[in-house]
Amino acid sequence: MYTPAWLACKMEIPVHMHCRMLAMALVVCGPFSASSLATVDLDAARKSVVEGEKAVEEKRFADSAHAYAAAMDAGIQCPDIAYSAAEAFSRAGDPKSAFKYLSMAIDLGFHGDLSGDADLQPLHSEPFWKELVQRHERREKAYRAAHRNPDKVHISTSDVSNFWHAYDLSVTRPAAEWQDIFRQEYFNKRSPGLEDYFVTKIRSEADFVRTLQRLPKFYASIRDDSLALVGNVPEIKRTFRHLKTLYPQAIFPDVYFVVGELTSGGTSTSTGLLLGSEMISAGPRTSVDELGAWEKSAVGLSSSVPGVVAHEILHFEQLPSGDNRLLAAALTEGAADFMGAMISGKSLDDTLRTYGDSHEAELWRSFSQEMNGTKLSHWLYQGDQHPPGVPADLGYYVGRKICEAYYQRAKDKKRAIRELVEMRDATKILQGSGYAERFSR
Ligand SMILES: [Zn+2]
Repeated sequence: MYTPAWLACKMEIPVHMHCRMLAMALVVCGPFSASSLATVDLDAARKSVVEGEKAVEEKRFADSAHAYAAAMDAGIQCPDIAYSAAEAFSRAGDPKSAFKYLSMAIDLGFHGDLSGDADLQPLHSEPFWKELVQRHERREKAYRAAHRNPDKVHISTSDVSNFWHAYDLSVTRPAAEWQDIFRQEYFNKRSPGLEDYFVTKIRSEADFVRTLQRLPKFYASIRDDSLALVGNVPEIKRTFRHLKTLYPQAIFPDVYFVVGELTSGGTSTSTGLLLGSEMISAGPRTSVDELGAWEKSAVGLSSSVPGVVAHEILHFEQLPSGDNRLLAAALTEGAADFMGAMISGKSLDDTLRTYGDSHEAELWRSFSQEMNGTKLSHWLYQGDQHPPGVPADLGYYVGRKICEAYYQRAKDKKRAIRELVEMRDATKILQGSGYAERFSR
């Protein structure tokens, strides 16, 4: 990201969820026909997902499981939500329901390491576990085989054109009619990517429409640039090809450009990379007068669409480590920044780097005191909750510096890249980087 906000990751995804979502993902699922899409209550699904996330944070696993299950019952086909239901049922001591949702997640295209997920440990002794793992492995293998070629990556911009069609119809109509128009012309025609994006990033249909009505100049001003996003496809493919040469194991998920309500520039789910076009397509012509301070910084710094996509695809390649410490989270983001800049040739957050370089020793002193704890809020995903005069999310800077140092020190560069992407032991990367020693002399 680099822009402090656009980073999907930076904003709202709880880390446990983020890591899991890094996993890879897949194919779609079911018949996304217009008629079946229209019968899904996206607002109800979104509300249930929020309840599920809150309950799991409070360790109310049965409540969480039922909330995620209710989201699926609303008709969505999001593999990660089905998987979250399975995890919660497993932790709540209900293996039968856990299997039902795990099976559903696999069929919908969930990507991730089932056997390494501690939440599913209680299922390992159940009779169907082995068969389910084998089914998942077969599907993963088929998915990887179908997504190895960067030139064949599927990049979807249909949601962006649908959005503008709905917008054009709406602006000549009374405000009270907008929600129906957007439901009919945008949400009900959604790609699988927009469905995932809705249930994780859009607050509700009504809130979405209110945001558009609150920011008429902003949205009108990004119209041409967002419709032109498709022009970045050749450079995105070049970036992906570069990744392939550095990291031959890479796979290339589907990429969906959608339009959101300024809550997230990008994220990755089992369905693919989901990019909030309204945040990443802002340019010199964008009208920002209506935006708050955080929104302004979030859209204002997003200058490189291929750079954003590069960061996000690295998340897609990364493996969940199960390590909840600040150090692991910062290295996860740092590796995505470092490698993303390497493959795209774009650095995403010069503000962060400028500040970081002039305060590097003091940042390291503070970070190293907190890095083995699990509290992230001083360093990552801060939104506008950062001290005045200090850029948000300096954990990205520290993480990137450690990854850079590790790479520079490594004799075998290709191996170092693999170790950074597939990071299994954050402490080992830190020790191998020699970064801490720079400040101990
Ligand atoms: Zn990230």
